[in-house]
Amino acid sequence: MAKKLVEVKNLQKHFDVGKGKKLKAVNDISFDVYEGETLGLVGESGCGKSTTGRTIIRLYEATSGEVVFRGDNVHKIKGKKVKEFNRRMQMIFQDPYASLNPRMAVEDIIAEGMDIHGIYQGKERTKRVHELLETVGLNSEHATRFPHEFSGGQRQRIGIARALAVDPEFIIADEPISALDVSIQAQVVNLMKDLQKDHGLTYLFIAHDLSMVKHISDRIGVMYLGGLMELADSEDLYKEPLHPYTKALLSSIPIPDPQKEEERKRTILSGDVPSPIDPPSGCPFRTRCPDAMDVCAKERPVWQEARPNHYVACHLYE
Ligand code: SF4
Repeated sequence: MAKKLVEVKNLQKHFDVGKGKKLKAVNDISFDVYEGETLGLVGESGCGKSTTGRTIIRLYEATSGEVVFRGDNVHKIKGKKVKEFNRRMQMIFQDPYASLNPRMAVEDIIAEGMDIHGIYQGKERTKRVHELLETVGLNSEHATRFPHEFSGGQRQRIGIARALAVDPEFIIADEPISALDVSIQAQVVNLMKDLQKDHGLTYLFIAHDLSMVKHISDRIGVMYLGGLMELADSEDLYKEPLHPYTKALLSSIPIPDPQKEEERKRTILSGDVPSPIDPPSGCPFRTRCPDAMDVCAKERPVWQEARPNHYVACHLYE
């Protein structure tokens, strides 16, 4: 297998919410991201997946645990290394309109990172922006326009060009297609796949729906209430899901064949996701799990490799 690019070790990110209470957005998760792969990270809204991405890229400081990028603990790096880290790890956001400054022309938006890092100036800068626009399927005439003049899909392409401008190695894409029309989603996913091949990129691709990550991810991690429930190769996860929560998520994806759709057994989850301020004891999923046992309320299941390269946190596999 390829080399580890990012190692997330027992990462926790808690937020103070007053009166001595803490919101445990990310609660002790560990996983690696390998060079050149796409790791999909999936879960319902509020499960901690975006906070995980933001803590990895240091938009948030970690409460505890480590994020190691090419051998450096990213929350401890200082001085010149911070600038280099900021160049090598980039982020693409869900809402491309909110993340693009409406008063800046596209050329300046894309070149912002190049200006900060002092790479490409004058004519070279303009040439590079035009190249990047072509790379993401836009053209050089778009450089002088402003974000409101573009469609959602085009704005996400601008966001991708901005991330690419500083030659990153690792891109965290935080729900990059969730706000787009279904017809445009596939185009953006295909663009990201092509760019990955051409530029040797590694992705953490965050989404709230397993069907969205299926076509881009080599491996997929499933989060629930701040914890990682399961992580496996995409094919394994779709064919042989182990965790009851993954099974429920998969059973909610419609099958295009009407007969198969009618025949299959669905797992409908009852109840709402509990509050991350006051999570259940033991397994975080136990209040909604159709297979819950007594032990599930008493002990938190251990994160372990239940099958080769297939990790799960569930007492059914201990
Ligand atoms: Fe369900 Fe228990 Fe497994 Fe949690 S540990 S997913 S409650 S069976």
